[in-house]
Amino acid sequence: MALYVGIMCAKCERVFLVTMTSRIKRYDSRQDESRYKLTCVSPCRATTYFTRADLRAYSVAANCFLRGYVLPGEYEELAKRVLG
Ligand SMILES: [Zn+2]
Repeated sequence: MALYVGIMCAKCERVFLVTMTSRIKRYDSRQDESRYKLTCVSPCRATTYFTRADLRAYSVAANCFLRGYVLPGEYEELAKRVLG
């Protein structure tokens, strides 16, 4: 198991690992707090907007992190709030 900071897709509950995915973009930096946009993979393709306060720490099974996200059952949420 390895520890990563991630954001969960609100629709399909995949967790995207912020250091491993290119699917997270800064959305609006004019706000006091930067907002980010996650675009999920096909076939979900849902868009999730979030700030650093929405990030969580996840324990991720070995070898699952390389594709940039993990599926329900491959991760365990460790903390309610890790940043922000
Ligand atoms: Zn999704």
